[in-house]
Amino acid sequence: MTITLPEPTKAIPDRAIYERRESGVRSYARSMPRQFNRAEHVWLHDNQGGRYLDFLSGCSTLNYGHNHPILKQALLDYITSDGIAHGLDLHTDAKADFLETFEALILQPRGLDYRAMFTGPTGTNAVEAAIKLARKVTGREMVIAFTNGFHGMTLGALACTGNAAKRGGAGVPLSHVSHEPYDGYHGPGVDTAELLERRLSDPSSGLDAPAAILVETVQGEGGLNVASPEWLRRIAEIAKRHGALLIVDDIQAGCGRTGGFFSFEDMGFTPDIVTLAKSLSGMGLPFALTLFRPELDQWSPGEHNGTFRGNNHAFVTATAALRHFWSDGHFQEDVRRRGAMLERRLDAMAAEHGLSTRGRGMMRGIHVGSGEVAEAITRACFAQGLIIETSGAHDEIVKVLAPLVIDDAILSAGLDILEESLREALTVTYGVAAE
Ligand SMILES: *Cc1c(COP(=O)(O)O)cnc(C)c1O
Repeated sequence: MTITLPEPTKAIPDRAIYERRESGVRSYARSMPRQFNRAEHVWLHDNQGGRYLDFLSGCSTLNYGHNHPILKQALLDYITSDGIAHGLDLHTDAKADFLETFEALILQPRGLDYRAMFTGPTGTNAVEAAIKLARKVTGREMVIAFTNGFHGMTLGALACTGNAAKRGGAGVPLSHVSHEPYDGYHGPGVDTAELLERRLSDPSSGLDAPAAILVETVQGEGGLNVASPEWLRRIAEIAKRHGALLIVDDIQAGCGRTGGFFSFEDMGFTPDIVTLAKSLSGMGLPFALTLFRPELDQWSPGEHNGTFRGNNHAFVTATAALRHFWSDGHFQEDVRRRGAMLERRLDAMAAEHGLSTRGRGMMRGIHVGSGEVAEAITRACFAQGLIIETSGAHDEIVKVLAPLVIDDAILSAGLDILEESLREALTVTYGVAAE
């Protein structure tokens, strides 16, 4: 089977309006200076007729691709029938359908018993609700987060985020969080769970008793570092022993990205609290959830709220996505197989150049040595019609976040572009031709 490679355009559209009126805070638009007007499946189109293969997927917000026909039809039908668009936290048909479907297809088959809190619609809203609830329930202030963690940009979540450039924008001290070394931070010889246990057990360590331990199983923005199941189980035990709640931030690694619906499935521990957002709506509509054990549901009515807690359009597309992709094991099997293929291809590229890979499932990347090399690679990819971005403390990881529904042959064609761009960039940077 021959894959028609994308046809990017060289023409850069008139950007005067953005320079004149849009804030300088924009970022992705700078590395992809085109004007996009349409998207379907794994493709983005610009207004000059160019086509791009999307290996970014809205930072894993579009796990099921752009405008999936089944999700789109469900939303069109709902709008056509004058379904409720905005409902605060009112009970609606769309919300009941979502909760019932989530219970039947996600919670029950996994033996999970969580209450769902509809927070404001972004990931950071779900994280704020999670840490606020943990502090309320435990009566403690301090949260343990990890090196290279990313949890969002509002003050509470930003305090849990490691990246100095992002923290610097806060303008006020970011407090009540201690950043402890993530799994592998000190190299393979140091068990960082043991270090944490020692600090928490030592009354003279200076570490206050935590309300929560907040962790990503794979650090999406922080460099695709993967925590081992053993380390995560240790962290879960440590949280329990010290009276802290374990929060898994599954905003990027969840919704199928690492294979299962949750990234911690089959690992032998159950988080007290879980945050979801990004691909939850399935179609890129804003929708976030904070899940927690029923005993933790100590909120009084309205104690935490938000005008956009009830994005009914997102309930509709999320329900359609759950029914279509999560009614049986087919989708998960496909994702696992594609994840293994991605691993093989990236490992081969890394071996060719003496580099290393990291990640899990369909959330993997290649450490290319520096942010400059990574940028040269992503720029070369974009020129050939492949949208791909970086991750890590120095943006030194080129990360593949292809839609989970991508055909194997298209995934392979995109990886061919990456392979070639990597070879070129390394040749230019180090002046050595790869043989
Ligand atoms: C993206 C992300 C967030 C923040 O989500 P927003 O919707 O951007 O607020 C939080 N945690 C993780 C792990 C993320 O990847």
